[in-house]
Order: sequence, then structure tokens, then C-alpha cells
Amino acid sequence: MNTNELAAHWMPFTPNKGFKAKPRMLTGAKGMYWTTDDRRQVLDMTAGLWCCNAGHGHPHIAEAIAQQARTLDYAPCFGFGHPLSFELSERLARLAPGNLNKVFYTNSGSESVDTAMKMALAYHQARGHGGKQLFIGRERGYHGVNFGGISVGGITNNHKAFGQWIPNDHLSHTQDLELNAFSRGLPLHGGVEKANELEKLIKRHDASRIAAVIIEPITGAGGVLPPPLGYLKRIREICDQHGILLIFDEVICGFGRTGDVFASQTFEVVPDIMTTAKGLTNGAAPMGAVLAGDHIYEAVVEGAGAGVEFFHGYTYSAHPLACAAAMATLDVYEQEGLYRRGAADGDISRYFEQGLHSLKGLPGVVDVRNYSLIAAVEFEPLSGQPGATGGLIQTAAWEQGMMLRSLGDAIAMSPPLIIEKEHVDQTIGILECSIKQHFG
Ligand code: PLP
Repeated sequence: MNTNELAAHWMPFTPNKGFKAKPRMLTGAKGMYWTTDDRRQVLDMTAGLWCCNAGHGHPHIAEAIAQQARTLDYAPCFGFGHPLSFELSERLARLAPGNLNKVFYTNSGSESVDTAMKMALAYHQARGHGGKQLFIGRERGYHGVNFGGISVGGITNNHKAFGQWIPNDHLSHTQDLELNAFSRGLPLHGGVEKANELEKLIKRHDASRIAAVIIEPITGAGGVLPPPLGYLKRIREICDQHGILLIFDEVICGFGRTGDVFASQTFEVVPDIMTTAKGLTNGAAPMGAVLAGDHIYEAVVEGAGAGVEFFHGYTYSAHPLACAAAMATLDVYEQEGLYRRGAADGDISRYFEQGLHSLKGLPGVVDVRNYSLIAAVEFEPLSGQPGATGGLIQTAAWEQGMMLRSLGDAIAMSPPLIIEKEHVDQTIGILECSIKQHFG
């Protein structure tokens, strides 16, 4: 990589100057491992960016994309269609819970979120409730980087340079971390009390102004915060009582992370609209899908006159290569039993949980929390550098051959669901060394 090439790329969510001084380059990937430009094999404990749930380089997915590129490389989906996108929609609707039977395609999680928000506004307007325009998100929530997503998102760095343009308010994040420290699976304490905060926000703004509440069933990028027992059900109840829509952002949780196809099935709460992306194509092609309840579609589409009912869509919505990748990915998840591998009571999840919680007691470790194979380890801020410890541990692990995600003073993991015990052992070994390297 020469200096001109390095200089030309403005990298997303990256300290550009630091990266360019010491690039970390990935040149290949297979199964659980990356190959780097210096020919190292690096264990992927993050499934890329929480997306490669079936591991890397799956031949069935690669072949499906190649085959599709030779047959129909592109098809516009404004006023035209191609059969694969309808097959995929029917398959997703069958997999989804409740009445989430209408599938709208995007190219990313961020686009899915903004699409879902526009659906919610269109739904209320179609029913004569155009005053319902405010969205309630959550502190530490991450809903991508488009203007809708940063308005409802609760991570300050992501909006402080840009503002939050859509009317919004935020619930506090789901957990009292001290009360629930070192929790395995769903935290036990405070779920219903936390959810009841929604009633205060409804009093403050009035239900007649609130369009929807949007939440990740398990907060991911905000630090891996599983919902405490009772939280999601209580949020659903309150939304129903006040005519407020509930949007689940399942961009991370969908496609096996919680032991079912969707977390809403695991946690037995059906939202009105659900956003997905990432695991939908195993990260092999950019694609998102928003699953809307029949009632949303009926209000917006069936209730409208002739002509376009929803003025929204993308050039690459339902892109044929992405549809082919998604169909093949769903085959792989089913054929290899990967949904079940993400279950909290599965053998591999228990083994991972056991290993990870053995880090409790090491110097600097203030919390370990996980739901199945999605986990975070939180550290004391190292002297004088709050928010930087995750990055230091991430770098130490990278140098020893493992990719982690750094989130402030924590590191997060969400490995491919094909992970085996030997990978867990490798992970715990590298984590111990990395922690000792910094905390002694
Ligand atoms: N929503 C959630 C819950 C996410 O975790 C992410 C990405 O991490 C997004 C939305 C945005 O997805 P994308 O980066 O594909 O736009």
C-alpha cells in the first residue's frame, strides 16, 4: 500500500491519522479467520461488524452471488420486479413473528432504520394522526448514521457535529450496570421499572405527538446491554395502551444471535416494524430489509388511492446479487443449524459464557456481561485516558491474532455462530494476556 493510496481513502468511524500511520489490512477470510497483508491468521471474534454469522467465504453464498451476476446483474425495482426478490420476501415473512409479513428492501441498517421511521410517520398520517411525529429512542442506542438514526440514537459522538433533526426524546439505557454486574443472559433486576420510564416521557410529550419507540432488543454498539427481565414486554404494553408504534432494530440481533431467527421470537415480543440488515446476507452483499406488520401496510398502501403509495425507495432496493446472497445465506443458516447455535442454553454458548466469566477477578475488569455469544468485557479506565481502554485491549489482542471491537472502556464480541471450543480457548487465552499486559 503506497502513501498516495493510503491518503486517498477517508475511512469511516476510524481515527484516520492513526490508521494510516499503522494500517491494519485484511486481505482474505475463511471460516473463523482473517488473513492479513503480513500473512497472519487472525481469529474473528466479531463476525466482522456483527454480520458474518455463518463465518467467512462460504462457498454456497459465493456461488449464488456469482451465478446471479451472470444471469441478471441488476433490475430496477421502481415499477418493475424480479422473481427472486418476491421469493425472498415470502421466505422472510414466513420466518418472521406475528404479522410482520411485508418486506421492504434497503442497502444497510441505517437505511432500514430511516425507512422504518418513515413508515411509522406514513402510518399515522394515513390514519389521520399526522401530529404523531416524535420518536423515542434510548441512551446508548445505535440506529445507524442517517439523519433518522442519529436523531433516535443515544451515542453523543454520533450526533454532536450534526444535530438531531427529527423530533426525539430518549429513555435511559436498559441497565443499572452496578446492580446487574457480571450478568449471564438476561439481567435480573430493574426491567419493569426501567420500562415504566416510558410513561413519564408520554406524560411529558403527550401520546398524540409520539409516533414510535425504537429499541434494539439487545443494545449492541452502545456496549452490549441485554434487556433486563420483563423490560421488552412492559414497553410493548405501554406502547399498546397509548397507540404508539414499537420498532425493533434487529440489525444486529436478527438471524441467529439469540437462538431464533429474530430476537423478538426469543424474547416473545412482536414489534409493529422490524429493521434488519447485516446477517441477512452474512455480510457478503450490502442489504437491509424492513419487515412491517400487515396493519402498517394496510393503512399506508391499501388505504391509499391509485398511484405510488409510499414515496420512498433506493436504486439498489432488492438488488439481485443481494437477494441471491440472502437466499443462500438463509439456506446455510438452516442447513447448518446456526440459529440454534446462538441459543443461550446451547453447548457452545455455555462454554463461551463460562470462559468469559472466568475473567472476573482479573485486575481492571469491572464487568463481564453476555447473552449467549454476544458479550462485552468492561474495564477500569486506565489512568488519564477515560474511554480509551477498549482500544488498548483491542490493539493488544490484534497483535496476538484476534479481532475484537472496542467500545469506549469495553470490548465487545459477537463471533460467527460456527465458533468451536478451540476458538473459545484461544479467545480467553489472548484476552487474559492482553488484560495483564495493561493492568499487570
Ligand atoms: N442499527 C443497529 C442496531 C446497528 O447495530 C447498526 C450497525 O451497527 C445499524 C443500525 C446501522 O447499520 P449500517 O452500518 O449497515 O448502516
